[in-house]
Amino acid sequence: MVSRVIPVDTFDLVIFGGTGDLARRKILPGLYRRYLAGQMNADSRIIGAARAKNTVEQFRDLIHAALVEFVPKDRQEPADMAAFLAHLDYVAIDAKEESGWTNLKAILRPNVVRAFYFSVAPALFGDLAERLHAHHITDAGSRIVLEKPFGRDLISARALNATLSKYFSEAQIYRIDHYLGKETVQNLMAVRFANILFEPIWKAQYIDHVQITVAETMGVEGRGAYYDKSGAMRDMVQNHMMQLLCLIAMEPPYHFDPDAVRDEKVKVIRALQPITSAEIVRGQYLAGKDDGGYIEHSQDPNSKTESYIALKVEIANWRWKGTPFYLRTGKKLRARYSEIAITFKEPPHSIFDDANGWKPNVLVIRLQPNEGMNLMVMIKEPGPGGMRLMQVPLDMTFADALGADADDVPDAYERLIMDVIRGNQTLFMRGDEVEAAWAWTDPIIQGWEARGDRPQGYDAGSSGPEDALMLLHRDGRRWREIKE
Ligand code: NAD
Repeated sequence: MVSRVIPVDTFDLVIFGGTGDLARRKILPGLYRRYLAGQMNADSRIIGAARAKNTVEQFRDLIHAALVEFVPKDRQEPADMAAFLAHLDYVAIDAKEESGWTNLKAILRPNVVRAFYFSVAPALFGDLAERLHAHHITDAGSRIVLEKPFGRDLISARALNATLSKYFSEAQIYRIDHYLGKETVQNLMAVRFANILFEPIWKAQYIDHVQITVAETMGVEGRGAYYDKSGAMRDMVQNHMMQLLCLIAMEPPYHFDPDAVRDEKVKVIRALQPITSAEIVRGQYLAGKDDGGYIEHSQDPNSKTESYIALKVEIANWRWKGTPFYLRTGKKLRARYSEIAITFKEPPHSIFDDANGWKPNVLVIRLQPNEGMNLMVMIKEPGPGGMRLMQVPLDMTFADALGADADDVPDAYERLIMDVIRGNQTLFMRGDEVEAAWAWTDPIIQGWEARGDRPQGYDAGSSGPEDALMLLHRDGRRWREIKE
């Protein structure tokens, strides 16, 4: 019963970088699924724009191959795919040159939603914005969608915001963080703000600590040169993990409205405490038996880039003072697993003798694999053995509860692209939010750079460096297991 699909207005969506990896793996398969769901109407069009001098047919062939590769087999009806591909057009454009733009202008229609997805290297964002404006392709109703990374520090993020704001208002700029498009991440907001049960205890008085884990099994492989300039802090913490933290920690917005939600998120970021070196553990994966370590994939044999980071983060406000948020993310770990776990405190007084059976309530929000939500609660162990306690999960998983086919639940990119067409910015990062996140991140990175800190080695397939265990042990806590 995942349904109630409301078609969006007719659109012309231009995808700069339409032949690239992201477009082929995520954006176009996502649009195809929205098309199958009936959300994209018959007049809407998707225009690929990239440097290659493709014909429309060549572009359609490329996207056909992408659908075959990335869409589930039972959704690959040839007639459906052909009908979808008929919505595709292509224009050859180089972001750095003047040719091609008049062709683009000529095929765009008046009176339909105009959106431009910048699925290209961030170094080209400014060129695209400037040329769209200079060639009079955009108007006050047009939208631009920007991929990550948005800057690599506060200075570069500010410069990019300044460039974009020369040509577009903030209401036209959609900075994507695809974690915000995940079903369970939005469900977290529903659980917090549509129930009376959680909000009264959603504070330091009742919450012991929060763990946010984003674990990957992949290493950097061919992307070593890119990753050397980034690292886990810039690639994952400054954006995705910070967004998750904000949704857990923010005050209830007065309305589920883009600026009301984003105002509350910015307040959380501004309340983040500076971090000392004792609250950070950085790691770099070592060579395994079949594969080289980070260093072998890096361009720099001396690279100090972290492929793993764990942090203890504290929020200095009335609600959270005293409740640490432990964040960790890394590559080449034991399992591909992401979750948020909110661990509640002990009841003030135990009336049961079976103290050993007691375990804390934990709200676990699983982001991958299999998005879902579980609340761990204590119950009586069934049977005649006296009052013994046991912990069971209350399954709050969206797809199961609604009897939905998991394939029908839109993935993050699908939902976010539809939000762009609908003109809803709630799940996109505002410029000041990105800058606030960099303002907190910059001194941390500068600190370890100035000290010349080296990341600690960790075994591929492990849970990360040894020191990360200590980060919690010191506080009398332990990480949850990383497992699928
Ligand atoms: P890619 O290298 O596979 O594709 C880049 C695209 O840009 C190609 O279509 C290429 O033709 C086009 N392009 C390159 N130079 C151009 C120019 N001068 N003018 C016009 N077009 C040009 O890259 P990708 O992996 O698809 O990534 C695109 C963007 O998305 C990047 O900002 C990246 O950081 C971001 N991103 C990618 C992923 C992913 O999974 N691939 C995930 C998150 C974010």
